[in-house]
Amino acid sequence: AFELKGKSVYVAGHRGMVGAALVRRLEREDARLVTVDRRELDLCNQAAVFDWFARVRPQVIFLAAAKVGGIVANNTLRAEFIYDNIAIAANVIHAAHQNGAEKLMFLGSSCIYPKLAPQPLREDSVLTGPLEPTNEPYAIAKIAGIKMVEAYRSQYGSDFISVMPTNLYGPGDNYHPEMSHVVAALIRRFHEAKVSGATNVVVWGTGTPRREFLYVDDMADACVYLMKTYSRPELINIGTGEDIAIAEFARVVAEIVGYSGEISFDTSRPDGTPRKLLDVGRLNGLGWRATTSLHDGLKRAYAAYLAGLA
Ligand code: GDP
Repeated sequence: AFELKGKSVYVAGHRGMVGAALVRRLEREDARLVTVDRRELDLCNQAAVFDWFARVRPQVIFLAAAKVGGIVANNTLRAEFIYDNIAIAANVIHAAHQNGAEKLMFLGSSCIYPKLAPQPLREDSVLTGPLEPTNEPYAIAKIAGIKMVEAYRSQYGSDFISVMPTNLYGPGDNYHPEMSHVVAALIRRFHEAKVSGATNVVVWGTGTPRREFLYVDDMADACVYLMKTYSRPELINIGTGEDIAIAEFARVVAEIVGYSGEISFDTSRPDGTPRKLLDVGRLNGLGWRATTSLHDGLKRAYAAYLAGLA
């Protein structure tokens, strides 16, 4: 197994939801954690990234930095999503190689899989068909990162790996009303309806798309587990193996938040991909399983949201 003990471990994107969860998780490892603020290092700036890596020379890298957002953010900020994410992946992966990093983990996304790929989504279905148009720029950037990891492994023998998380939620999520993902959006909308006494809450789309949701601290635990145990060119999915229809999910969030009014659907809003359930056979086969139920994870996420308001 690969050891983290005593090593300098750089979490790129430590202010993001996933990066922050990685930092929490890595505090339990005997490693030297390295982070750098965005004000000091812009990961889209190639010269700055190469310079920082040459000085700091981290031994282990979790590449959790990315420009992310929900279906509207992905679909409207299309240029920013493709440019920033390609630049971050290209700069950090190449700098890790140049400075002899021992291991790097690239975090992708389940949206890299074709829109109509067989469900549950297996790792080998990448690049077998057209992508979901709403997040194609983001997906193409993530696929570029995956292909870099593969290429550096095959040409230089680098111990670089790629993991593909399902939809994530938890503390540190973005609660922007338009740009957020569905979990944060609904926590906020149901909470605000409860507080104001509103009797109807609007959920986007038809309610029929199905999504899989993983609590971010489970994601961080899986990443640390795979950093230590996984060293192969093939991608590896990280998820729970279970999905839920958005309409039913909305009722679960309403119950946890304590909103008891009506729920309606705005079908002028996009549904996105019909279903996005990951095949987690490879991950489970390596001995890792998600442990936080959707109910418990949502309770914690709502508590973190309330704490953020205070
Ligand atoms: P996606 O998995 O990339 O499509 O990301 P999202 O989290 O943005 O959306 C997941 C699903 O939830 C889609 O079918 C959306 O149409 C649906 N959805 C319902 N209400 C909302 C909302 O208020 N915000 C977002 N972002 N999605 C919503």
